[in-house]
Amino acid sequence: MSEPVHGAAIRLRNLSKHYGEARALSDVSLDLPAGEFVTLLGPSGSGKTTTLNMIAGFLQPDTGHVLLDGEPIERVPPHKRNIGMVFQNYALFPHLTVANNVAFPLKRRRTGKAEIAERVARSLDLVGLGDFGARYPRELSGGQQQRVALARALVFEPRVLLMDEPLGALDRRLRASLQLEFKRIHRELGITFVYVTHDQDEALVMSDRIAVFNNGRVEQVGTATELYEHPKSLFVAEFLGDSNVLPGVVEDTAVGRLLRGDGYELKLPTASPALQAGSCGVVTVRPERVLVHSAATKASISGNVLRGRVVQLIYLGGLRRLELRLDAGFSMIAQEQSGNQSPVSVGDAVLATWDPEHSAVLATDDAPAKAGVAIGTA
Ligand code: ADP
Ligand code: MG
Repeated sequence: MSEPVHGAAIRLRNLSKHYGEARALSDVSLDLPAGEFVTLLGPSGSGKTTTLNMIAGFLQPDTGHVLLDGEPIERVPPHKRNIGMVFQNYALFPHLTVANNVAFPLKRRRTGKAEIAERVARSLDLVGLGDFGARYPRELSGGQQQRVALARALVFEPRVLLMDEPLGALDRRLRASLQLEFKRIHRELGITFVYVTHDQDEALVMSDRIAVFNNGRVEQVGTATELYEHPKSLFVAEFLGDSNVLPGVVEDTAVGRLLRGDGYELKLPTASPALQAGSCGVVTVRPERVLVHSAATKASISGNVLRGRVVQLIYLGGLRRLELRLDAGFSMIAQEQSGNQSPVSVGDAVLATWDPEHSAVLATDDAPAKAGVAIGTA
């Protein structure tokens, strides 16, 4: 805030953790570049909090290392790591005023009185609570209390801010506005933010980079676009956003490589992973990539084409969703921009089409399950 503070780079190397017999984290390695907004995203129990607590120093890994700007910090106690932390439940001191809550980390560091006053004021201004210093936590809304917790976590000018589901207790509208605030504050401070959430929308809105956790492992790391457009596993495809999922077996034919499913055969994108002919795979297509035409259309249609009927039209303000029942016996979802809608109604026979390049193909271990729609988490 006064001097420009630079974010620290965090490297996690082969972190593992067991609780008794239960494995909470298996060999997690992750690079969090200095100054980025990185989100750890995954379902409940996937190991996000365990990872965050290892960065904070509240928890020691069984094996592996946490490096801050290249230095191993296992032996550095939490309060000497220069890392701020915000929890879901705010964890404010109820008997202290807002100003004294925010001053707390500075008093523990034996900062001088005048400097404390100045820094507390600046920190409260940063989170939009400049006039609230004399209040008590109980006199504030949930969103305001979380802002106080944020001011307290930032007041000693940490080089890293950790946040563990900080918006989990707030309603949707408030969450959306605080997400934008967090982004603004991140831009203003330029320090490294590590943010934990199970909410895909939240991750997509805020992050420079997202690490998707599943069952104690990191499934994939990338920008929101990379994860959304090029998921490397079915778990990632299904966890982020909605997908149409079409399983089958890979075949090499005279016209190229196909995925043969129960009642359909699909052309694959050129950038397909190295799938052997005969192996199991899944094609995933996002709803907004599926185009719907009347079955009577005279337009020439290329790419993948599946026949079906419209069973439901759902208006979502600027968007329209079409639920289709395909002749092959499963459902698909298409999504159109309002104002750019295909002229079809419920009950119409239609063609669902997409450019194979707008789909992803993923290897799966098991025999193909049934085709259908996977709706994302949020
Ligand atoms: P997340 O934050 O993604 O929900 P956690 O890191 O809290 O996941 O937990 C990962 C796994 O470790 C879960 O299966 C959880 O039940 C287990 N776990 C976490 N903390 C403890 C603990 N103190 N004792 C026993 N098991 C725990
Ligand atoms: Mg957690």
